[in-house]
Amino acid sequence: MHAASRSPRGDEPALAPSGLQAPVLEVFASFQGEGQYVGEPQSFVRLAGCPLRCRWCDTPGSWAIGAADATARIDARNARRREQRWATPFQVACWVAQVEPGAPRTISVTGGEPLLWPEFVRALAKFAGPRRVHLETAGAHPRALAHVLDSVQHVSLDLKLPADLDTPVEFSQPQLAAGGAPWLEASPSDAREWAEARAECLSLVRRRDACAKLLVAGGRRASEFDPLLESVAEHAPELPLFLQPVTPVRDVPAPDFELLTQVAERARDLELRVRLVPQTHKALGLP
Ligand code: SF4
Repeated sequence: MHAASRSPRGDEPALAPSGLQAPVLEVFASFQGEGQYVGEPQSFVRLAGCPLRCRWCDTPGSWAIGAADATARIDARNARRREQRWATPFQVACWVAQVEPGAPRTISVTGGEPLLWPEFVRALAKFAGPRRVHLETAGAHPRALAHVLDSVQHVSLDLKLPADLDTPVEFSQPQLAAGGAPWLEASPSDAREWAEARAECLSLVRRRDACAKLLVAGGRRASEFDPLLESVAEHAPELPLFLQPVTPVRDVPAPDFELLTQVAERARDLELRVRLVPQTHKALGLP
């Protein structure tokens, strides 16, 4: 363990300590609310930091890495508490064990965008013991995805309309170096770059335990989703595809039945394995 990780709370640098750490927003136990493993009791590790700006983002508090004295919420069995945000993979594995109400659970690593911290994710998986590690990613960083792929047992890959995204806000390389990203992998910023990243990510998860989530917001035309559906058909046609209606937030409405039906039929025309699964944890008021 390096010097920065032994610093008392508030003394460590806000960004880029000199060893392998990542900024942790919260660790808690709940039920998976989305995608292929919906309903499974899981432990969640939410990492801070996301360069993307989805207009319907429901966790904007995860965008920033945080200040020097930022903390992580640990929803431990006996009492909720806060710890310093920058943590080693071993510390986080210990926190996971503390939040589990029973036998070891699958760990869902989410964010933010956890692929900002690829080496951290790999190391956390080593400390996970018998637990499976599932990765939830926006699918914007194929190089990092390739780096972690053999360390995780499931990948849930978002498919987002470029029109639903504002301009990304990138972190600097020193900010990301702590989590083991020795490279700068810029996020896609236009439709062409998103198409390339999507194709790479889909090809990487093909024939693995993985799924794609197609986020559908209201006010869109079904034809806008064609490039995303065609990417899946071309690069990972066997992948389970979950239409995920956006939960209304700010000025972004939920999609109506007609739009969902039209998108589903376009997916079926391409012989994709499409299902509709809303954000069940939102519907049930779960963490
Ligand atoms: S990728 Fe996730 S955390 Fe980042 S802006 Fe989009 S919804 Fe929010």
